[in-house]
Amino acid sequence: MNDYVLQLKELRKDFITDEKKELKAVNGVNLSIKKGQRVAIVGESGCGKSTLAKLITHIEKPTSGQILFMGNDITSINKKQLKEYRRRVQMVFQHPSSVFSPRMKVGKFLMEPWLNYEHKSKQEAKAEALKSLDRVKLPKEYFDKYPHMLSGGELQRVAVASAISLDPELLICDEATSALDVSVQREIISLLAQLQEKSKFTILFISHDLAAAEDFCDTVVVMYLGNIVESLKTDCMLKDARHPYTKSLLKSVFRVHDSQTNPIHILQGDPPSPIGLHEGCSFCGRCDYAKDICKTEKPDLRILEDGHSVACHIVT
Ligand code: SF4
Repeated sequence: MNDYVLQLKELRKDFITDEKKELKAVNGVNLSIKKGQRVAIVGESGCGKSTLAKLITHIEKPTSGQILFMGNDITSINKKQLKEYRRRVQMVFQHPSSVFSPRMKVGKFLMEPWLNYEHKSKQEAKAEALKSLDRVKLPKEYFDKYPHMLSGGELQRVAVASAISLDPELLICDEATSALDVSVQREIISLLAQLQEKSKFTILFISHDLAAAEDFCDTVVVMYLGNIVESLKTDCMLKDARHPYTKSLLKSVFRVHDSQTNPIHILQGDPPSPIGLHEGCSFCGRCDYAKDICKTEKPDLRILEDGHSVACHIVT
């Protein structure tokens, strides 16, 4: 039996810019996610994490490589198969307002999956929508509200309710808490954790916020310029992170128990443009440990131990 919900094999996405140059947004990503895992993909903006989410959800088509879902290759599926796939793989976006029509009441929005996929009667769909509100701890009165009457956190709860209404196997949260206040972020993360415990779906949590990812997920995958540079378990992250970029990210996080006088390390410089990248390590220009080989040879993502992989020439 296949234990993996999702497997990405040498997945690539190139874009051609207006100047006819090649931009490698996702540069040969290999990733396997087991059922019930909570996997975070972290990295600075422009690292390719959101493009990766769009590839997995078929919003974008890959340039090459494979996407396996529950062991089946879904890289090139037809319209009918895509509809079924979208029922099983759902996404929660950064700005919930982008998925709501301002003129559509919350209740009608929550009825849609039941009408479109399950062909329920309006009465049955309404009953399901009310259950969905209850699942995300919103009172039934919200059924008749318009999106502008809800706070950002409440809207995100409705977006989560809609995404999980048909019990997907994989939920992709693309910066789903980034636009919210810190206290509301916590509430949404805690809600996702409770829902996952009950419904056993798998979560891919895409975020630039390493602290939130560390808190919520069991595995963190670090991306830099379209490449996975390290993947490891969150509970041993502080102790075991080996890649210079992961270490820099960890040093830039301020933790509640840190001394107020401890300096916060900020990684200097910006990632280089992903257009016309050289053949070597993508982190080379910002790495304090770069050697000659780093400029010419891209390091492979190697398994160091179970659950820990790293792409760096100096890590042995
Ligand atoms: Fe730094 Fe070289 Fe490792 Fe890249 S491969 S992270 S440049 S030491």
